Amino acid sequence: MQYEYDDQNIFAKILRGEIPNQTVFENEHALAFDDINPQAPVHVLVIPKGPYVSLDHFARDATDEEQLGFMRAVAEVCSSKSIEDGFRAISNARTHGVQDVPHYHLHIIGGAQLGRMLPPVG
Ligand code: 5GP
Repeated sequence: MQYEYDDQNIFAKILRGEIPNQTVFENEHALAFDDINPQAPVHVLVIPKGPYVSLDHFARDATDEEQLGFMRAVAEVCSSKSIEDGFRAISNARTHGVQDVPHYHLHIIGGAQLGRMLPPVG
């Protein structure tokens, strides 16, 4: 699999400070910010600072430090938001996954009862 990163995507612009964001948490390797179009009371996007297009790209090519920094940011989001009763973490990838922004991001969604993930096949 060849991954081609487009540095004009909207999250790359957020990382460069060209577009504002509501930051929830930041460390050396990751940024977490509120989704502009929330699907639930809590809807945070966690993104790596490196140029990775999708979860599989990040999981394959990011360094151990980047991966750890990213997961620690996820932990900070989960402990700073009111999602003790649960949440959903989603990462959409490419066409079948209906990914709109081609910079890897994990949606952390919660703060209310969510519906089932997907209808059954068939
Ligand atoms: P995807 O469909 O790629 O998994 O999700 C992209 C997400 O990025 C969507 O939930 C969308 O609302 C969010 N989004 C798109 N543009 C912006 C933006 O400029 N700022 C923020 N904070 N979120 C954005």
